[in-house]
Amino acid sequence: MASLPYYPDKVYIDKKSLDFPLTKRILGHLDGVPQEIVPSPRRKQAILEAIRSSKDPIGEGKRILYLTVQKGRFVKPCPCTPRVIGCGYFIINLNLQCPLDCTYCILQHYLAEPWLTVFVNLEDLWHELDDFLEKHHRRAIRIGTGELGDSLALDHLTGLSADLISYFRGKANVCFELKTKTAGIGDLPAVQRPGNIVVSWSLNAGKIAGEEERGAPPVIERLQAARAVVKKGYRVGFHFDPLVRFPGWEREYEEVVRKLFQVIPASSIVWLSLGALRFPPALKKIIQARFPETKIIYDEFILGRDGKLRYFRPLRLELLRSVGEEIWRDGLAWKPRGKRAVENTLFPRLWGQDKS
Ligand code: SF4
Repeated sequence: MASLPYYPDKVYIDKKSLDFPLTKRILGHLDGVPQEIVPSPRRKQAILEAIRSSKDPIGEGKRILYLTVQKGRFVKPCPCTPRVIGCGYFIINLNLQCPLDCTYCILQHYLAEPWLTVFVNLEDLWHELDDFLEKHHRRAIRIGTGELGDSLALDHLTGLSADLISYFRGKANVCFELKTKTAGIGDLPAVQRPGNIVVSWSLNAGKIAGEEERGAPPVIERLQAARAVVKKGYRVGFHFDPLVRFPGWEREYEEVVRKLFQVIPASSIVWLSLGALRFPPALKKIIQARFPETKIIYDEFILGRDGKLRYFRPLRLELLRSVGEEIWRDGLAWKPRGKRAVENTLFPRLWGQDKS
């Protein structure tokens, strides 16, 4: 797995995407990388079949970039677990797949096409967002990229984060989030004061980051990137997800939480989330085939109502409680004043007044 910044071995360009400014911008950064125009769906299928017939189609797909046009909708509600309270989050799908290669990544199972796709018809995105925000103008909206790929891993090629920040900045009822595991923050513009743009990092124990999150920088580099982003004027978030059990997990997670509060001013943190390892049984087979040395899929798992394997409840609670308590201890200075304190700082007027 090549370390970032990422450059593909080859770029395929859907004929329909040739004239878009974003296509030109991306290709401008890929001088010397072999390029091929894909003239028809038949040729596209042939290329995909060649990738799928390789020994490791997912790994092979990560070496290839495909530029195309989004024909459906860019903005979708978060596909939350059925029959549980939804998170109300909206996702923007601008790219699919990720150049990093985490052993536990759900995208290995979830996405049909293994190559890295970037949708270049940004003009359609802005129109769709205008309509979407007009429809929901009385409601507090949380929206972000980073659901079907890392938000910043391709930013040195696409420059999309700056476009998105410029679109969302100043939209009072919207909180926009970029989610990443990288330290590639060079293209984020400075902002004047903390506003409605949040950059968040996925954090994990050093052992998990080192052994299971291939291509991602060590946790300390992610924290240093977060600190640099705070200096640029942003507020930041952190996702401890997936929390994984392994011998010594208590000490390692304690260490990363302590480091977080040493490096990042607590007042700049707008949210922290926790989630324990979970995966569909079909992903387990993929992980076994691609990463035979990993041990994280062998533990006491049960099959949840949502069809995903997750730790037996007492083990899950122990993990969540332990890391949660450590955050509470180390982050006392930031202790929220109430259930919605954090959201209220972002949506002082609109939160809780959903009239859409
Ligand atoms: S960074 Fe996220 S999207 Fe990328 S491989 Fe890891 S888990 Fe998957």
